[in-house]
Amino acid sequence: MKKAKGLLVVVSGPSGAGKGTICKDFLEKNKEAFLSISATTRKPRPGEVHGTHYYFLEEDNFKQMINEGGFIEWAQFCENYYGTPKKAVTEKLESGNDVILEIEVQGAMKVKEAFPEAVLVFVLPPSMSVLRERLTGRGTETPEVIEKRLNTALWELTIAEKYDYILINDDVTAASKRLEGIIKAEKQSVKRNNEFLKEFTQN
Ligand code: ADP
Ligand code: 5GP
Repeated sequence: MKKAKGLLVVVSGPSGAGKGTICKDFLEKNKEAFLSISATTRKPRPGEVHGTHYYFLEEDNFKQMINEGGFIEWAQFCENYYGTPKKAVTEKLESGNDVILEIEVQGAMKVKEAFPEAVLVFVLPPSMSVLRERLTGRGTETPEVIEKRLNTALWELTIAEKYDYILINDDVTAASKRLEGIIKAEKQSVKRNNEFLKEFTQN
């Protein structure tokens, strides 16, 4: 049997939902999985490192990369550009590693169109008031930006039904374990094992 390609997993949901926190926990426990490092025109937050958290680009360079077809998807979110570089993702998928894209919903919808085999997971905290608390508690955005992100969250929620799974982030460890469960279950799905079914009687 030939080696299966990796699974492309999109993790999105409102800013402050806990995507980053869950993915970090998941990746610590699943060393074969790869987190795509996005490019952005947003300025680095204290402690963020170029090439580790994001590739921090000037707008001109970002647009050049769009024109060169260097992104799987890109989107504008709260006045900054964000995009998923193509090369690393396709290489990792080909070599059988699962790839996680931690991206917002416009980008997720572009991935769904271009890669119908991708699994889409929508992360939410237990309630809107908890979302506000977490976004405020993170302390990385000004009150004005927090309001913008909360407003964007209301629109993002209207797209949730287009996803395959909802992941409620009540407790980080539990949510990360459920993400692991989603990926394991997807790999056993009939639609992902058609080749096996076809070849079964020939061997
Ligand atoms: P996102 O990546 O979706 O923007 P983060 O992962 O940065 O969100 O999480 C937002 C804030 O909420 C962070 O300060 C993080 O430590 C906190 N947080 C995340 N998950 C939980 C949780 N299950 N319980 C309590 N706090 C959480
Ligand atoms: P932040 O500024 O908080 O790091 O990210 C803002 C939003 O952009 C988050 O929802 C994050 O998931 C999303 N994002 C990060 N990288 C990408 C990307 O490559 N493409 C898209 N479409 N969104 C991204």
